[in-house]
Amino acid sequence: MDYEPVIGLEVHAELLTHSKMFCGCAVVMSDGEPPNSHVCPVCLGMPGMLPVINQRAVEMTIMTGLALNCTIEAFNVFARKNYFYPDLPKGYQISQYEFPLCSNGWLEVETSQGAKRIGIRRVHLEEDTGKSTHAGGKSLIDFNRGGVPLMEIVTEPDFRSVEEVQAYATKLRAIVRYLDVNSGDMEKGVIRFEANISIRPAGSTELNTRTEVKNLNSFRALVRATEYELARQQKLAERGERVVQQTMGWDEDRNATVPQRSKEQAHDYRYFPEPDLPPLVIDPAWVESIKASLPELPDAKRDRFVRDYGLSRGDAELLVAEKAVADYYEAAVQQSGAKNPKAIFNWLTGELFRYMNDAGVSIEAIKITPQSLVELIELVEAGTINVNTGKRVLADMFKTGEPAKSIVEAKGLGQISDMGAIEAIVQKVLAANPGEVAKYLGGKETVLGWLVGQVMKESRGKANPGAVQEIVRKQLAARK
Ligand SMILES: [Zn+2]
Repeated sequence: MDYEPVIGLEVHAELLTHSKMFCGCAVVMSDGEPPNSHVCPVCLGMPGMLPVINQRAVEMTIMTGLALNCTIEAFNVFARKNYFYPDLPKGYQISQYEFPLCSNGWLEVETSQGAKRIGIRRVHLEEDTGKSTHAGGKSLIDFNRGGVPLMEIVTEPDFRSVEEVQAYATKLRAIVRYLDVNSGDMEKGVIRFEANISIRPAGSTELNTRTEVKNLNSFRALVRATEYELARQQKLAERGERVVQQTMGWDEDRNATVPQRSKEQAHDYRYFPEPDLPPLVIDPAWVESIKASLPELPDAKRDRFVRDYGLSRGDAELLVAEKAVADYYEAAVQQSGAKNPKAIFNWLTGELFRYMNDAGVSIEAIKITPQSLVELIELVEAGTINVNTGKRVLADMFKTGEPAKSIVEAKGLGQISDMGAIEAIVQKVLAANPGEVAKYLGGKETVLGWLVGQVMKESRGKANPGAVQEIVRKQLAARK
């Protein structure tokens, strides 16, 4: 029997606010500050303390909801989600339950099967918990993270392949970065995935028992854990065994999902409205003004790049995946007077991306400005240097940040287009290789390419290859 995956995703994203969700403590990265240095009676859950809603966090969640085509609900209620955990000093988390801030949206993703719309069930706001570290038989808790605004984005169970899951996760991360509401730093745990996974006979519409794989902190973990869990469930189904509803973790070392606990039902949390907070009423005029100030998002930018710069959809998609790359590209195009957007695309995504990958640096950190990339491309287009020399110059620019022109001058890399100079080199090469010349004159024409290669080598790659070809041919003809 053929099975199909039925997958839904929950994404937790910490918001880039200055202060925490319900108090004035600063939001800091856990690796940047001493543990428990940014805490107060509110986020430590002391009795009698009153929370105050962070307006900026609400605004960032509305921005995200709008970017995901959601309805922004006017009437919101925060709820207490009651459970005990050492990193949750209040014994409950303030979240949203029946009345999420945003609902009923969608996000379109691109896959090899074409575009597909993934339904967004809800986007709501809650507070993060503290962070536990288990070491040397002890458990340590850092409450700096406790109370940091956390946005939860929940999809419908619309994914039918791991490819769709990956495309969605990648695009969602790009969007929160475009909106500047989350840094997307997965290794720092500021964006975390959970996958709800089940399978069913292909073509059926039933929803079977699912498992939930929690705390996936990288695209790689998300993909591998999902693949593993689908295969595990399929094996069970083929043996006629049942999938048990439970929460799983991903064990990177064993490359396997491992059961953590049997899944709580919503009633286990005994949600009730947070008595310390009034209902949050959102003014539609505020939503309209947020909508009007949203930045251009990846899809709109892609379509504009296709329209304005003549790029293919796939090429434009590659550029807009990271806002910083799209901005760099566009700055270069403007610098060049939009003369050759395709050449800039090729140099950027070909050679420059390769150097960036090899060195493991992002585009924000490179020493080559958009302006100096354009200057290099102009030297190549003008024939001052040839393409191969251009690639060598780019490698130097990447290391030193020097402008292309200075490198070309300092190293004497300018292309030799002076016919007299090229003729002299050709003469020298032909004189040094009488045997090869004789073969050519005897009818073995393929020798021509080899002789051209020798001339290029002799010129240290600087001769204009077109001119070399022409002159070698002419001088050989003269010897016939
Ligand atoms: Zn606090």
